[in-house]
Amino acid sequence: MTSRTDIERRALAAFLGMAIGDALGATTEFMTPGEIRAKFGVHRKIAGGGWLRLKAGEVTDDTQMSLCIARAVLRCGGWNLRAVAEEFTAWLKGNPPDVGATCRRGIRDYILTGRLEAPFNEWDAGNGAVMRMAPVALLTLGDEAMLGRCALAQARLTHNHPLSDAACLTVGRMVQQAILGADRFALHALTRELTAAYPTFRFNTYSGNASAYVVDTLQTVFNYLFTTGEFEECLIGVVNQGGDADTTGAVAGMIAGAFYGLDALPPRWLKRLDPAVRTEIEETALHLAGMSPAGRAASAAEASGERRFEDSSEGSREA
Ligand code: MN
Ligand code: MN
Repeated sequence: MTSRTDIERRALAAFLGMAIGDALGATTEFMTPGEIRAKFGVHRKIAGGGWLRLKAGEVTDDTQMSLCIARAVLRCGGWNLRAVAEEFTAWLKGNPPDVGATCRRGIRDYILTGRLEAPFNEWDAGNGAVMRMAPVALLTLGDEAMLGRCALAQARLTHNHPLSDAACLTVGRMVQQAILGADRFALHALTRELTAAYPTFRFNTYSGNASAYVVDTLQTVFNYLFTTGEFEECLIGVVNQGGDADTTGAVAGMIAGAFYGLDALPPRWLKRLDPAVRTEIEETALHLAGMSPAGRAASAAEASGERRFEDSSEGSREA
């Protein structure tokens, strides 16, 4: 079994990796690869700017909505969809600079009608639900049925589309299996399950599109995840593709963070991250992972191991 420390460190790396990808990619959001090359050569610094004119280390809706989910869970001591919707509402009322159209519509519907599930909409196959999967993957670690329920419930607050649903489930599973120590082949197998059900996600020939369409987003993430060998290289590849770079960065960051682990996050990027965001992520990631079925099992195993150790050391003193 994966130790409690391993789970905690990889869970933390997933959440921090997501925020790093968001902050790094915000600079090149909506640019083309050619424009990025002309301006930066290779974009590799958390430098702010971008169309949102961010400060260096500032994060956008991807991280903020993920923190909304985490806050709702911690406030309620467990999963509570209405609490998530309330956190989204409070966030939207604070006038954040960057809100996706589908997210805005879903939250506004909740405010007006109390509705917790957007109706099916053929235009809802954006990446706005999959970008907030990190806290859901952490909370439900070790229980795939619970992952399925919570992933789809949070997704459909704003996005109701089979491609978005499938993306949320696949990314959630990839983050979880990476936290539990899966290798590249196991992660790739999860993408093959997705492409078997929805061939449109196939990424063996990458088109180069990195738009907010969830298919383009996952193809970009998977292409760089499986053609690079480090967290840093994967994220640099993704954000230099431009398009919805903060969100491809966020999704790549959560999977690559879980896979490569905490020591793989470049210190210069971590240092740049908005300190308040970093602190909140550090506290909440550990809480969420500790509440999860796998986290609780690892703690219980550790406690009983310690008891066994104390018993046997007493035994040896007596002998
Ligand atoms: Mn964003
Ligand atoms: Mn985005």
